Amino acid sequence: MVRVGLGFDIHPLVPGRPFRLAGIRIEYERGPLGHSDGDALSHAVGDAILGAGGCGDLGDWFPDNDPRWRGLPGPDLLGLIRDLVAEKGFRPIQVDSILVMEKPRLAPFREAVRGGLAGALGLETAAVNVKFRTAEGFGPVGQGEALAAYAVVLVTDNDKEKTG
Ligand code: MG
Repeated sequence: MVRVGLGFDIHPLVPGRPFRLAGIRIEYERGPLGHSDGDALSHAVGDAILGAGGCGDLGDWFPDNDPRWRGLPGPDLLGLIRDLVAEKGFRPIQVDSILVMEKPRLAPFREAVRGGLAGALGLETAAVNVKFRTAEGFGPVGQGEALAAYAVVLVTDNDKEKTG
């Protein structure tokens, strides 16, 4: 069986916070505000994996008032989520994602970010796609006050069928 999940996340962008996507540090004057590292892309992917596994949402498992998750790096979160859905017999097989952010220019980091997500999920880089978009100046994302991310993930339980 293959199942699909949809994920979303948004964080405010503020001066003086480090900016990381899938563990890749990107120099920028602003960074995401959040209890974790604010890596909206990893969070959207994780949200989608939970959805595909029928496991609720990020807030259920990683509440933002729990000190265990303070500063949690995006790839570490994805590893924990991978383990969570594995307990239900699922593993991610494909990711597509969109990060919406007005600045900085992110295209040079695409392959590194794909690799970061893929490594965290135990996937080949070819199974992970990352698209960078802007909001064309509209709304808080377009004004550079936030970054938002969307993701779709497929999971399979084929391993369970093979071994069971
Ligand atoms: Mg988040």
